[in-house]
This record gives sequence, C-alpha cells and structure tokens, in this order.
Amino acid sequence: MAYLGNSARTKEVLAKFNMSAKKKFGQNFLIDSNVLAGIVEASKVTDNDCVLEIGPGIGSLTQYLAESAKRVIAVEIDRSLLPVLDHTLSDYNNVTIINEDILKVDIGEIVAKYNDNKPIKVVANLPYYITTPIIMKLFESGAPIESVTVMVQKEVADRMVMGPGNKDYGSLSLAVGFYAKAEAVMDVPPSSFIPQPNVGSAVVRLERYEERPVEVQDDKYMFEIIRTAFNQRRKTLSNSLANNPALKVSRQQVVDALLEMGLDEKVRGEVLSLEQFAALSDILQR
Ligand code: SAM
Repeated sequence: MAYLGNSARTKEVLAKFNMSAKKKFGQNFLIDSNVLAGIVEASKVTDNDCVLEIGPGIGSLTQYLAESAKRVIAVEIDRSLLPVLDHTLSDYNNVTIINEDILKVDIGEIVAKYNDNKPIKVVANLPYYITTPIIMKLFESGAPIESVTVMVQKEVADRMVMGPGNKDYGSLSLAVGFYAKAEAVMDVPPSSFIPQPNVGSAVVRLERYEERPVEVQDDKYMFEIIRTAFNQRRKTLSNSLANNPALKVSRQQVVDALLEMGLDEKVRGEVLSLEQFAALSDILQR
C-alpha cells in the first residue's frame, strides 16, 4: 500500500534516515494523497505501461506509480536518497532506481533497455530549477515518449499551455506546442509539499503528437527565430531578427517576408502562432 502521501509519514522517514530536503536539488516532497492520486490518474498509466519517473525523492509518487504501472524506472541524482528508496519501495518488485542526472542520461537507451523501445510515459514532480531543460531534453531526444505528466511551477505551466497574444506566451509555449498537446490538469498549493515551495504549482499533461502540427523545412532555424523574437520581446520582429547574425537575414528581408505573409511589417513575435513562425522560417530560408 502506498503510505507516504502525508506529512507525518514523510517526516518519519526523513527523521529515520536523519535527512532533510536539499534545496540545491529542488527537493519539495509531496505530502498530499489526493494530489498524488490525481497525478497518476491524469497520466493515464495502466498496468501495461512502463513509466519513467524523474526525481523519485523519498518515493512518494513512486509508490503510487508502482501500484498502477507494469514497471517504473526512476532516475534520481541524489545518492543519499538511495537507502531511503530501498526502504520505502521494498514492497515493490517493479521499480528500478538509476542514480544519475536526468540531463546526462540517454533516454533512448533507457527505453530500449527497459521497454523494448516501446513508448513510455513520463510522470514526475519535477525539480523546478531545471524544468525547461528537462522538458526540452525529453522531446528533443527523439526517444519514444507517449506523454509527459508533470508537476511544475504554476507560472511555467501557464507558459506551456498559452497561445499567441497572452502575456505568458513565449518560446516554451511554442516548443511544447511543436511536439505535444498541452493540457492543464490541476493547481496545487504550497501546503501540499514539505518543505513548502514559495510559489504555486500545477500539473500539466503533454501528449506527444503522432504527426507534427506544422511542417517546417528546418526546425532548428525556426527555433532560433523563436528564441530571438522572445529574447527581445519589445523590439519589432524585423529589428530583432536582423540583429542576430546566426539567422543571416537583413531587416528588409524580414519586412518583405512579413508582408508576403499578410502581416504588418512592425509586428512583434508575441502575436505570431507556431504556423506563422514555421511559414516565416521557410520564407527566410528560400
Ligand atoms: N518525487 C518526489 C515527490 O514528489 O515527493 C520528489 C520531487 S522533488 C520536487 C524533485 C526530485 O528530483 C528530488 O528528489 C531531487 O533530488 C531530484 N532531482 C533534482 N535534480 C535532478 C536531476 N538533475 N536528475 C535527477 N533527479 C533530480
């Protein structure tokens, strides 16, 4: 039985191992059984699934996942948590802990080794200090990943699900939108964690598209355009893109491309959709 999803048991386990949460690893342990059950439900994990968990911590979410999934592979950077996980997961024989930095492991290799290259589901309460690099790595790795259900900072969740024209819309919204359909699942208050984070949190579910929603000749070039546009949010698109030598375009070329697309030459990047960035990228590379 999953027993860790409450404050008393979490404190008991931490005290037993003489441990406290480490800030440098973004450790905020979930103590709310409704939230834990809600994450697993939103992830749609079944007993046919192999799950990749990032940062099992003391094993709270891992216990829930082990009860729903066929297999759980959990990557944890903090070596001192290994004896704790040995103890809290001793009732489960379908969990494998890998003591590595998720940003350094080969995700494709994990899927090949533990799930015969069949798509896995990623489920995690992410360390907030590296949320974006983790999400980007998961998608850019090209590994077979069916969905990603994660707890992130509320503000980051908003950026993932927003469309053009919204203040939270940015390069993360576009990057996520290129690979997956994003859905906000639930907001989670600081009181659901030990220690309490000083920001609100939210769970999002990203379901990877089987077919990309837009066609673009060179996605790296498109993402360089997107990064440049949002790094200099207050500049017009033609000025910001012409300022980036890596894009090899003049201000006039950008203006001509925007006019060809039926857009105002003074437009800013924040109003363009993913489809429009893809079209702009293709025109600028002609
Ligand atoms: N899953 C646990 C829970 O929900 O209670 C802990 C979540 S805590 C927010 C984040 C976890 O990620 C911590 O256990 C931390 O040590 C781990 N972590 C931090 N950086 C990591 C990295 N680069 N690779 C793997 N795990 C990491």
